[in-house]
Amino acid sequence: MIQNIIAQHTIEQLRVLINSVQRIAITCHKSPDGDALGSTLALCHVLRRLGKEAVVVTPDMAPKALEFVPGVRDLVVFTKNDKRARQVLNDAQLLFCLDFNSLHRIDRLGELVEPLQVKRVLIDHHLAPEDCFDVMISHPEASSTCELVFRVLMQLDLLKFLDTRAASCLYVGMVTDTGGFAYSCDDPDFYKIVSSLVRRRINRGWLYNQAMNNFSADSLRLQGYAINEKMRLFPEQGASLIILTKEELERFHYMRGDTETLVNKPLAIPGIYWSVFLREDADKIKVSCRSQEDFSVSEICEQYFNGGGHTNAAGGDFAGTIEEAEAVFYQVLADKFPGTAPESDTTNNEQTTTSQ
Ligand code: 5GP
Ligand code: MN
Repeated sequence: MIQNIIAQHTIEQLRVLINSVQRIAITCHKSPDGDALGSTLALCHVLRRLGKEAVVVTPDMAPKALEFVPGVRDLVVFTKNDKRARQVLNDAQLLFCLDFNSLHRIDRLGELVEPLQVKRVLIDHHLAPEDCFDVMISHPEASSTCELVFRVLMQLDLLKFLDTRAASCLYVGMVTDTGGFAYSCDDPDFYKIVSSLVRRRINRGWLYNQAMNNFSADSLRLQGYAINEKMRLFPEQGASLIILTKEELERFHYMRGDTETLVNKPLAIPGIYWSVFLREDADKIKVSCRSQEDFSVSEICEQYFNGGGHTNAAGGDFAGTIEEAEAVFYQVLADKFPGTAPESDTTNNEQTTTSQ
């Protein structure tokens, strides 16, 4: 038996809302990842099987590497077709908000969502959601929003509509948000849910490889370069920093998603328990952080990088130059580890490479 973790009165509230409408819009955060796409598309499949007119509207495009997720081609992408996105949102009688906790995470789509006079249902696992949802299913202890969608369907007694396609979507989010079942998956019920998905005859091995092991040659070369030449280690503070500039990204024909798991790599090194990756995008510095145990990178991202996330996986958008973002990293070292000199090691950093 999988335990019910969502309050029954919330489930009853949701049941009434779903039963009383026909047209449902579902959205997720910008730069959608496996969990955002998996959860929205799975819910959409199930609602359609229930006879609803459900549509997923994303703030921007899915990365190429996630085009294998069933249903991606049906997405209404705001940055590609804002007219259709407006139409779907204006026609909707109910809005699901999945895998984000505040309207600024959906970028300019937030301006369309804000004035809508429909009930908003949050299903999410980020800390501290904004108070702008009518029904809140917020469980930061959950591995992923996909896990929560499964639990919502289970408690609504709708699992009979969860077919192979929808189960595949949920599996993708549960795999990607746990780094391939590496973190945030200590709850034994997590594996019962995975088992229930596998029983629905998903192509598990193929999906796992598509989700976790699917990089272009350019992307692999970029990651090799980043680790070989750009990774700076700070053993005294258990930290790693990788910076990739616009010029370097261009050199390796960077495409969205190419650096997706790079930030995890330094955590393989004994003694390194938090990792920061700064990427110089066209309009901002994208910050990605990962950590182990109870070292909270979401606090760091909130406090220093205009972001947030989870204890062990967080990110942010930094408005400034790459040099300024780098200086902020050194400030974090100084603030969090007072009295230790923030010097990088001499075996694996830029300075060593250039002096050889
Ligand atoms: P990633 O490093 O894969 O981009 O993001 C890891 C996690 O950090 C995401 O699941 C999300 O929870 C959070 N995150 C990433 N970027 C941002 C951001 O710009 N703002 C906030 N609030 N959270 C972010
Ligand atoms: Mn997620």
